Amino acid sequence: MRTRIDLKTGQIEDAAVSFRRIGDLVGVFADEEARAAMPQDAIVYRVETHQAEKEGTPGGLLFGTSFVYPGKVGDEYFMTKGHFHARRDTAEYYFCIAGKGALILMDESGKCWAEEMEPGTLHYIPRSVAHRLANTGEEILAVGCCWGADIGHDYATIAREGFAKRLREVDGAPKLV
Ligand code: MN
Repeated sequence: MRTRIDLKTGQIEDAAVSFRRIGDLVGVFADEEARAAMPQDAIVYRVETHQAEKEGTPGGLLFGTSFVYPGKVGDEYFMTKGHFHARRDTAEYYFCIAGKGALILMDESGKCWAEEMEPGTLHYIPRSVAHRLANTGEEILAVGCCWGADIGHDYATIAREGFAKRLREVDGAPKLV
């Protein structure tokens, strides 16, 4: 099965597209008051997924590009909700196609760290490590992702407990605090 990915933008032909807007992200950012005051239809990120397999297919792979838009809620950069994999013993590859940002990671003990992203950086997300993307630049951050179709996504743990650290702009530069 063949399709095309634009290596400049990360856009995938024949992809399913989903959007996450400010209004979908209640409780995700620290400054809920600032989030509530923003235009609720503003896009924070979108995901284009090439669906070679149905979600859940044992042994299958899925490929997608996440596009995180530039912006901040308070002093916190636009970011994805973040997730663990429901099947914790599964890893994932991310690579940066365009823009500038950070991959924020947290293991199950709550240890939290970040890897800087710029075009060409390749990131291995180990098993049992939660992950989210944040855009620290002025352009769209585009990140290619390849994951197992049957890993499942556990958003609930992060929705309940969050990440141990947040990526904020401190004195004009991103800092994980
Ligand atoms: Mn994942």
